[in-house]
Amino acid sequence: MKKPRALHRTRSLRLVQELSRLAAGLAASGSRIEDAFWESRLAAKILAQLRAGDDQNLEAALDQLYETDSVAYGEFIYAIEAAIECSLLTHENTDNDVLMFAAPILTWSRFSIPSGPVSGPVLADVRVQLQTHVMAQETRFVLANCLFSPDQLPRGYHLTHEFAGRLWAAAVNEEHYLHINPRQLAETGRFLSDTRYLLGAVAAPQGKPMFRWQEIQESRASKNVHAPDGRLSKEEILQAWQAHGSEALRPLFQGCAFELLLPDSFFSAWRTADRLARPYSTHATVNFLQSTLNIPASRLRAVIAPFHDQWLEEYRVSFTLNDRDDVLYGIVWALVGDEDEHSDTVAQIESTLRECGVTHIVTLDHHFLLEYCEECGAPLFPNPEGEAVHAEFPDEGEVMPVHLH
Ligand SMILES: [Zn+2]
Repeated sequence: MKKPRALHRTRSLRLVQELSRLAAGLAASGSRIEDAFWESRLAAKILAQLRAGDDQNLEAALDQLYETDSVAYGEFIYAIEAAIECSLLTHENTDNDVLMFAAPILTWSRFSIPSGPVSGPVLADVRVQLQTHVMAQETRFVLANCLFSPDQLPRGYHLTHEFAGRLWAAAVNEEHYLHINPRQLAETGRFLSDTRYLLGAVAAPQGKPMFRWQEIQESRASKNVHAPDGRLSKEEILQAWQAHGSEALRPLFQGCAFELLLPDSFFSAWRTADRLARPYSTHATVNFLQSTLNIPASRLRAVIAPFHDQWLEEYRVSFTLNDRDDVLYGIVWALVGDEDEHSDTVAQIESTLRECGVTHIVTLDHHFLLEYCEECGAPLFPNPEGEAVHAEFPDEGEVMPVHLH
């Protein structure tokens, strides 16, 4: 009888050293041919960890490289993400490049933001628009029948890889939809502004384009609207997707403002969404405060402060009235990708606030600790006096602010 497979979740120092050594070799490589040497060995080691269902050694090697070799750290993350989201699958004697993709949607609403299962007709409309405007000619692709909130995305490296595997197989088998069991989805946090994701996989014959921006459009009549070599630019494809994809998705987003971002490989789309969600939620918040309090943006004051754990993790931005110190509302501006304390994040936050019409801005340089409310888990926000406090939004018609839990 076959024994149940034991999961080896023990951290192996030898393996961690080997992963770090391969990533460092790749970072220091002097040529593309040498890159390929390190890449294939690193990819094989990473895949073995993903297949064993073990994230620990990958995480330990990442921690080690973060401290010792920032270039190798970047290469290693890139290699892990590649092993998770793309592969080569043989189907009916044809080799197929397969890629897990995400189509992010930024959205905000005073009411609730949808998540979970998407009805058949809406999903069919979305598929048509993706096929027409985003996917390359010879591709097959599958969509999961679900609108994922950030809490519902697959967690961790091997689980994401496992999910990608299901999507790849469905894509090469020319299935159009992957059914997601709604009972397996995590609960979604409620926010004024948030991101939603459509997830899927695209398959193309090996070496062929996956997305429209990779295709040469030789037969197009009008040349001047395209990139010089005849390709549609990403910007043009984004505009077409925003116009037509928004129409297809509108039935889902009743009572919400929403903006479609360019579908792309899972990790790249995710990072772009994280980056763009910050100015988007700033605009949403100022818009919400103006309309709910019935005041112009010029009556608001913003307080920006850095929040640290071991390193700088995020900025938190509070909103108060110009002449009051109570924090009415707060937003988190998280660092994304390789941003750190040397990035010009504060300048970006300030210019976003000015775009929203908020000109009264206080920037604090205290080292706040990442603190949350013990009762509801909400982040604490800086007040103009330099304390981290709970945001307290006034109830409609009430003079005194109330706690929102
Ligand atoms: Zn609380």
